[in-house]
Amino acid sequence: MNVDTAAAVAERFEELYGAAPEGVWAAPGRVNLIGEHTDYNDGFVMPFALPHTAVAAVSPRTDGVLRLHSQDVEGGVVELRVDDLEPESDRDWTAYPSGVVWALRQAGHVVAGADVHLASTVPAGAGLSSSAALEVVVALALNDLYDLGQKGWQLARLCQRAENVYVGAPVGIMDQTASACCEVGHALFLDTRDLSQKQIPFDLAAEGMRLLVVDTQVKHSHSEGEYGKRRAGCEKGAALLGVDALRDIAYDDLAAALDGLGDEEEVRRLVRHVVTEDQRVERVVALLESGETRAIGPVLTEGHASLRDDFRISCPELDLVVDTALASGALGARMTGGGFGGSAIVLAEAADVETITKAVEEAFATAGFTAPRVFEAVPAAGARRVR
Ligand code: ADP
Ligand code: MG
Repeated sequence: MNVDTAAAVAERFEELYGAAPEGVWAAPGRVNLIGEHTDYNDGFVMPFALPHTAVAAVSPRTDGVLRLHSQDVEGGVVELRVDDLEPESDRDWTAYPSGVVWALRQAGHVVAGADVHLASTVPAGAGLSSSAALEVVVALALNDLYDLGQKGWQLARLCQRAENVYVGAPVGIMDQTASACCEVGHALFLDTRDLSQKQIPFDLAAEGMRLLVVDTQVKHSHSEGEYGKRRAGCEKGAALLGVDALRDIAYDDLAAALDGLGDEEEVRRLVRHVVTEDQRVERVVALLESGETRAIGPVLTEGHASLRDDFRISCPELDLVVDTALASGALGARMTGGGFGGSAIVLAEAADVETITKAVEEAFATAGFTAPRVFEAVPAAGARRVR
């Protein structure tokens, strides 16, 4: 996100609405280094922010009108009234920003309207959290313009509520917290139970490594039902085991817990993934803190196997990225995000990046898959005002 982008978004706002915006804000997409499908089990996650951002030019209004426009969507300005906002009334992209306005007002904050123009470089549906970036940028803008005094994690909670209740998508808290709270050069070790956070320095370039994101271009939009099923299965597991959330099963007690699930084979697989995945997050944090960065590679790869075999949310394209990258010398690789498409991450020595990228591209061509989009991810800043 550079100054030119902020200026261009402000200029377009002025064309649309006839006056310069009060300000311009940016909120990033994210990749999750490790900790997948743990966030709705009160567990651990470890995302970092991408340089790709949703940018919003915003002015407040006093007349109850909410006007929304996105550079990236066909169609003109959408005009709504803040008093009329109703959960699940809108199946369009505008549900994300208007859901945020609804959630803020539900929480008792005075938001009397706004003019909003958005433009985003976060690819939508690629598992990189374009939706959270959209929510968080609007929440932060309104927080500043209406002096709401909410901290990043509080805005994240409100954005999650907007997506859960208003949009109607049963997502966890990771994406919004990552977009709101990540810091440049760091991964965010987040406990999703109490939202306590620790910024973990994550500078791969200094150690001669790179992290590649491979967007398979397989849109995960058909995955909502499957996501809901996994979530329900995890809740069933927690209930059968007599705990509030799967987070409460200690890794050392996992074998006994799995035995206790009787013939619930499907639930057993889900429980095994979540409990081992929480432990993988803790291992990655410990390795990074002790300077053994290369050793996180195999932990990432283990995480992929667990998502593929136990949680069963991978797909042929994601598996092909992981297998090809590892065969070409990657230190570790895994799918990232909700699954059924979207993106994979690859940890590699800087010197191997070209070989790996070529190998993945060739493997996709040979398999007859759409060409993947490969880019390097460097931990970027969380949401902020840019103008
Ligand atoms: P992800 O968050 O993984 O990218 P989601 O399905 O959660 O995928 O969110 C994608 C949706 O977010 C899009 O279908 C669209 O409604 C909305 N969205 C994302 N980026 C934009 C944008 N730049 N303008 C308008 N809507 C967007
Ligand atoms: Mg999303």
